[in-house]
Amino acid sequence: ALAPQKARLAGPAVLPKSVLETAQRELLNFANTGSSVLEISHRSKEFEQVNQEAQQNLKDLLDVPDDYAILFMQGGASAQFSSIYLNLLVNQSKPVDYIVTGIWSEKALKEAKKLGGNCNVVFNLNNSKDKKLPIDDKDWNFSKDSSYIFYVSNETVHGIELNDHEDKFFEKFPKDKVLVCDMSSNILSRKVDVKKFGCIFFGVQKNIGPAGLTVVVIKKELIGTRQDKNVPVPSMLCYKTCYDANSMYNTPPTFSVYLSNLVFKNLKELGGISYMEKLNLEKSNLIYGIIDKRKDVFQCPVEVSLRSRMNIVWRCLGSDGKPSNIVEKEFFDGAERLRLHQLQGHRVVGGVRASLYNAIPMESVLCLADYMNNFKP
Ligand code: PMP
Repeated sequence: ALAPQKARLAGPAVLPKSVLETAQRELLNFANTGSSVLEISHRSKEFEQVNQEAQQNLKDLLDVPDDYAILFMQGGASAQFSSIYLNLLVNQSKPVDYIVTGIWSEKALKEAKKLGGNCNVVFNLNNSKDKKLPIDDKDWNFSKDSSYIFYVSNETVHGIELNDHEDKFFEKFPKDKVLVCDMSSNILSRKVDVKKFGCIFFGVQKNIGPAGLTVVVIKKELIGTRQDKNVPVPSMLCYKTCYDANSMYNTPPTFSVYLSNLVFKNLKELGGISYMEKLNLEKSNLIYGIIDKRKDVFQCPVEVSLRSRMNIVWRCLGSDGKPSNIVEKEFFDGAERLRLHQLQGHRVVGGVRASLYNAIPMESVLCLADYMNNFKP
């Protein structure tokens, strides 16, 4: 069987076909303007409506409470690594807590340090031998008076996801802390209780739309109230500036907002996050099932309870039972012939990675499963 659509690695989002068809149709005549959304002014009433609708649809999908705001920003999740620090630090002498579980949390930490942050690492999974979350409370090294606690819900490169433990994980957090989470690579893939967070952010280019738009969902009482007067916040990174301008402080990434809105509408019609979560569970269980069944050929380095539903990473084993680049090359070559593309792991960790983002159809996953079941090194 040929894969009907590419099984892609982390990168620009795969978009639902019906969304692309709508965009194609509307490209020549958007909302009866006779122009495309790429050409109309972001100050036009037609784009204002897209901006408003996109915020509302996302609010509906994520069940965002009224005391939270949705901000449309730019600069990707990477810019947010600076923004969260600058907007939420309270004052520079106070510590900020970082949970490090992979490359992206490490980068967020580095950025806060670069800005002069008094950064405390709660624990670092990269340094732990067994790659398991610490069990004892004493090994969760929270500082007493941190301005916020940061973590990444899905480490895209390492294939580590934290929400699974929702209660077990959350019970470790000190109460009444501002929890900040980067949800770039699993947003809208599973239920999330927004109330637990002070601030959630994500780039849209994994599970939603084309790169360009970065979304921040933030408790309104945190906007503009926790900046240190001695640490100026550049306007483009400032939550208050963005909020006051209804996310139109400067020219927004109009096409990305427009297309993201089409994806939101599409997901609502399909049945929202619960529909998507069920599908993602089926897709990921299928692949993990094969990895675990074929232990002589495949090996997943991630502990079962931390396994990501979005980014499944594994190694192919040689006849000596050790990870083998040669066998992996054979695996990739065979996959390419079936049009299963971009299965190479991130260059930092190597191995294989299947990124099963929301829009990857079940047919592609079935094709990958069939290939993995029959793969003979
Ligand atoms: N955080 C996570 C979890 C990511 O997966 C990525 C991108 N792969 C980033 C942050 C960086 O995002 P951006 O490219 O939008 O800056």
